[in-house]
Amino acid sequence: MKLLMFELSGDRRLGALRPGHEQELVDLSPVAHDLLALIDAGEEGLDEARRSIIKPAGAVHSLESVRLLPPLDPPRGNIIGIGRNYQKHAEETAAGNHAAEPPTVFTKAITSITGPTDDIAVDPAVSDKIDWEVELAVVIGRRGANIDRQNGFDHVFGYMVINDVSARDIQMGWGGQYFKGKSLDRSSPIGPWVVTRDEIPEPQRLGLALRVNGQLKQDGNTRDMIYPVDALVEWTSKGMTLLPGAVIATGTPDGVGFARTPPEFLKPGDVMETEVEGIGALTNRIVAAKARA
Ligand code: ZN
Repeated sequence: MKLLMFELSGDRRLGALRPGHEQELVDLSPVAHDLLALIDAGEEGLDEARRSIIKPAGAVHSLESVRLLPPLDPPRGNIIGIGRNYQKHAEETAAGNHAAEPPTVFTKAITSITGPTDDIAVDPAVSDKIDWEVELAVVIGRRGANIDRQNGFDHVFGYMVINDVSARDIQMGWGGQYFKGKSLDRSSPIGPWVVTRDEIPEPQRLGLALRVNGQLKQDGNTRDMIYPVDALVEWTSKGMTLLPGAVIATGTPDGVGFARTPPEFLKPGDVMETEVEGIGALTNRIVAAKARA
């Protein structure tokens, strides 16, 4: 299933793409009020959702008639970010050090997420070095700590796309501030939906692409992850409980803006398309704005 949140008459509602008719979505409000509630309902909830989209119990809408919202708003806890999980990206960002080292773990504030088609408002007085990062995001479905790699996928609910938008001046200022540089308000789109694990049997064979104004900037594949998804579940859960509804952003391939020659950063008017094969794409425009309270 492709599970999503959408806005209808000012309400947030759970829905799913209609199988075989993916230009339409089925309202799943009768099953659960949001995706987090559905994840918490476990297998029973998923079974009910599956029945409801085959023989729609709820209303059917055309996809283009509704506004898609972030599938999880907020996720359960800060987004867990993985830094330098692709060798070529590790090389482009670490001058002189080309060894395959374990990736960095950091987090992004829950307030940093935004919707799949939302504009990203950036105050140039806060940052003028806004950069892109296409990533596969893993949504955790089952609580666990110290999860062995061979059981890693049992804890995965599904997958979505994330653009781990990063303010490089903040990230690299003040002695190195991943958390703050990757947590600007409403800067990082997620979605457009969560594809359940059963529909992505081979998560390590997915193409990743990021375009700015139609120009391809990142062109990677999840097969090049240093730590694949099950290994990330094992490592991040070591001594630290992963909760249902938690999100792991699994790292970005090479081609980010700041590592280019000369460096490139986003400016107002730029449009990013962030795509993961088999999942979908996010389309977001950068707009200039005064920082909001
Ligand atoms: Zn990232």
